[in-house]
Amino acid sequence: MIQLYIPLGFLGVIYREIKQSLTDLEKMFTLMEREREIADQPGAQPLRIEATPAVRFENVSFAYDPARPILHNVSFEIPPGKTVAVVGSSGAGKSTLARLLYRFYDVQQGRITIAGQDIKQVTQASVRQAIGIVPQDTVLFNDTVEYNIAYGKPGATHAEVEEAARAARIHGFIASTPLGYNTMVGERGLKLSGGEKQRVAIARTLLKNPPVVIFDEATSALDSANERAIQGELRTAAQNKTTLVIAHRLSTVVDAHEILVMDAGRIVERGSHAALLAANGRYADMWAMQQQASDRILDEIGV
Ligand code: ATP
Repeated sequence: MIQLYIPLGFLGVIYREIKQSLTDLEKMFTLMEREREIADQPGAQPLRIEATPAVRFENVSFAYDPARPILHNVSFEIPPGKTVAVVGSSGAGKSTLARLLYRFYDVQQGRITIAGQDIKQVTQASVRQAIGIVPQDTVLFNDTVEYNIAYGKPGATHAEVEEAARAARIHGFIASTPLGYNTMVGERGLKLSGGEKQRVAIARTLLKNPPVVIFDEATSALDSANERAIQGELRTAAQNKTTLVIAHRLSTVVDAHEILVMDAGRIVERGSHAALLAANGRYADMWAMQQQASDRILDEIGV
């Protein structure tokens, strides 16, 4: 009996390992599937960035499926080191802008430039090297917290990882776990909350220190204390970076250099927070609605 137990236990380990490898393979194929959609042009050179770059969308139109256009003639500029925020209804095409800038897909009309260079003409790898993404839903590797943060900068020292984790305000949480930075996270390890995962992604981005940053704010509501705290960390990560913020809560965008209001793939309003409130249009309506909603919540919880 004992002899039987040992091989069975062993088989269990092997089974888990195989299952894990399959999951990783699946992830790899999903990524490869995406990669196939775009290819570098023959002889493409890497993006050259000498100073904090401007990012420009020039008359960009795009469709995932030719039968269903998503973006129509979208143009805007993020000046070097500034933040442009995009707001609008669900399905308006906000996250699509982020995907195009990261070159998950190539635009069909118009162009996107970083430091004046069309991202379609340079290598995809160099575009991704220049950009840090904090996505809506951060995928964590089934590995240690240390690995997951250090992924932002291959070869990072522990001191660098810890510094990034402190700046992203996740160090305290990590230090409180029995294994600290060696704690396994991901599907098989410690499950992190949405806010904690975003902080890991912010730490990764801080460590990567890219000149361009994209934040795709989580749609899922974080509690408001957590939300305010994350916004502080996002500001730290965006300092002196050319930043595109896809915002689901208007409180995130108040300080942006420019706010773009999107509807059905078009920019329907644009300007600073103050200018858009004064214009009394769609943004002003959205702002009033969010204020009412947060007042209602404050009333409900008796604040
Ligand atoms: P939300 O606020 O809900 O995140 P969004 O403004 O970010 O919405 P996008 O994610 O950019 O919207 O999606 C814009 C449109 O493109 C939607 O109608 C969506 O269904 C479609 N879409 C998004 N991703 C794909 C895809 N991979 N293939 C086909 N259609 C897609």
